[in-house]
Amino acid sequence: MRVLLVEDDRALALGLQHALASEGWRVDALADGDSAAAVGLQGEHDLAVLDIGLPRKNGMEVLRLWRARGVRMPVLLLTARDELSDRVQGLDAGADDYLVKPFDTPELLARLRALHRRAMGRLDERLVFGELELDLAGPELRCRGERVALSPRELALTELLMQKAGRVVSKDSIVGRLSSWESDFSENSVEVYVHRLRKRFADLGVAIKTVRGFGYVMELADGDTGTAAPRAPA
Ligand code: CA
Repeated sequence: MRVLLVEDDRALALGLQHALASEGWRVDALADGDSAAAVGLQGEHDLAVLDIGLPRKNGMEVLRLWRARGVRMPVLLLTARDELSDRVQGLDAGADDYLVKPFDTPELLARLRALHRRAMGRLDERLVFGELELDLAGPELRCRGERVALSPRELALTELLMQKAGRVVSKDSIVGRLSSWESDFSENSVEVYVHRLRKRFADLGVAIKTVRGFGYVMELADGDTGTAAPRAPA
């Protein structure tokens, strides 16, 4: 998941960047309303955390502009003032949720996960494919009940492939999902991560096949995309 974080309080922004990254989310951080307005229109983010009090254009103006231009990503507003008018205005302007500062980071993370789930139309916090089960709240991958240790980026790639299991995921969309502005993530890096996941999944009944010139598709290791492959007795 790729998050656009717009917050001009540098210390708060750094703390949030760290917390979001530790959830395995890619974060792009901005500190003013003008650049936020422009970047949000590019449609590359799954959700936005938007401060109201910003230089050059306040968060409310940014949000109205996004909604007027058809940007539908979920937006959580941060407001420094506990004023009813702010919150009502924010929700009227098209915000999906808001938090009043100061807030607890775990609460922010939980609300962002809920917004993301709602946006994806998911009712629970799990993705299941074959014998793999991805608990999005962790996030944590399990196979037959046992934890499969993965790095945050490996988890993010697994989530993307599981969401579209049986369908091709383009290299571009993987680069988009796993990139942030601070890191140099290329198509070559995608190959490295896919290679690692293939090794991890080799004994778990799941294969990641290359579709030459397009991308990758997650399938069950026997080639069947429907039910889990029967396993030989140990
Ligand atoms: Ca501010």
